[in-house]
Amino acid sequence: MHQTIATLSQQLRNGTTSSVELTKYYLGVIKDKNAELNAFVSVNEESALAMAAKADDMIAAGKGGALTGIPLGVKDNFSEKGMETTAGSNMLKGYKPPYECTVLMKLREAGAVFLGHTNTDEFMMGSSTETSVFGSSKNPLDTERTPGGSSGGSSAAVAAGMCAWALGSDTGGSIRQPAACCGVTGLKVTYGRVSRYGVIAMASSLDTVGCLAQSPEDAALILEVIAGHDEMDATTPDVEVPKYSEQLNQDMKGIKIGVPKEYVEGLSDEVKKAFDSQLELAESKGAKIVDISLPMTEYGLAVYYIISPSEVSANLSRYDGLRFGPKSDAEDLVSSYFEARTAGFGDEAKRRIIIGTYALSAGYFDAYYKKALKVRTLIKQDFEKAFEQVDVILTPTVPTVAFKTGSKGSPMDMYLEDIMTIPASVAGIPAVSIPYGEYDNMPLSLQVIGPMFEEGRVLGVAHNMKN
Ligand code: GLN
Repeated sequence: MHQTIATLSQQLRNGTTSSVELTKYYLGVIKDKNAELNAFVSVNEESALAMAAKADDMIAAGKGGALTGIPLGVKDNFSEKGMETTAGSNMLKGYKPPYECTVLMKLREAGAVFLGHTNTDEFMMGSSTETSVFGSSKNPLDTERTPGGSSGGSSAAVAAGMCAWALGSDTGGSIRQPAACCGVTGLKVTYGRVSRYGVIAMASSLDTVGCLAQSPEDAALILEVIAGHDEMDATTPDVEVPKYSEQLNQDMKGIKIGVPKEYVEGLSDEVKKAFDSQLELAESKGAKIVDISLPMTEYGLAVYYIISPSEVSANLSRYDGLRFGPKSDAEDLVSSYFEARTAGFGDEAKRRIIIGTYALSAGYFDAYYKKALKVRTLIKQDFEKAFEQVDVILTPTVPTVAFKTGSKGSPMDMYLEDIMTIPASVAGIPAVSIPYGEYDNMPLSLQVIGPMFEEGRVLGVAHNMKN
């Protein structure tokens, strides 16, 4: 029964299945597999079935669209009214938002079915879900390996057939890298394309909302529903939301695909060979491959690891233990902050708060944060120049395949996992990861990067690479 959204929504319309039936099916798969995979951290059976019944009514009345009646997983940083939403942190254990984020409101209105919340690294910091207070999720293709992170619960859930698709958020790679690890499609949108109102923040100038899905076509169908201006999020410009799903079958003939040398230089021979075979495939479809250079790439990681912890330290400063998190019975206010934040945050969150607070402190601000912002502009300009020459940029999403859980010795080893996804995040531009081929019995992945607001173009190229 686990099929793409495109297929399922047809089946719902022609009566082959109903949303209630489909929802029961997915709840059954979750029951069977979740003990092993730990992809979902909470499942809301009752409300899912009620949403499904409503969706069936909508469909019977000829209302709704492609997502109506389709069950999804919700990453645990999307505030869902009345449902525990923790961002994988002890700090938010037991927190039930009194309101709903815009994306979930839109999906609710569209008749989608929320199955439950999926695992994430604590406050979305990590590449493996290992920093989650719920413990790590497992990769359904090889349970010794990570499903990636921070949207690793979502990627594992889609790959294991526990839901038709799942929401994710991507700040430095957290949709694309887990998609790559699990062999599914992951779309990171242009900064501001999808509202972040009510999505628990990591680093506000980088955070984006997107999806993990079974195909670029499905990602297009999802984006049509969730994208657009929202007066509750001032970073969402009033740029028209195109019918992305109708832009998929563009001709590959004449499309110029840039391949940046900085992304392929360090690849292992096997991965390089596999990647080259994809370039040949694109050429055989009529695309033109252009060698390009993005010389600022080498500063991407450094810039990201100044800007993102700085913004993390500011965003997480609101968690003082008074409203959320472990309560302290310390006698004075400052000790109560110390106690609550010591018990509420894990090691990685603390590490980033310390780094960020340092980079923002008087005397260091100019040397670190301000300088990082300047280099960020150079990275953006690198991409802008490249897009004068080519239509899209093609790279591997990650340097190799999913690694074994627990195998990264140092924080730096983990950070390097995002070396190919971070530049597009820093530049605020859209990118999609799609699976292809195999290495070491695990899926390899391609990343298609495009200019601002050209989600249709990146999804179109991704779609044509696969078909
Ligand atoms: N893995 C990266 C980090 O740890 C990216 C996280 C994300 O995109 N949320 O910061």
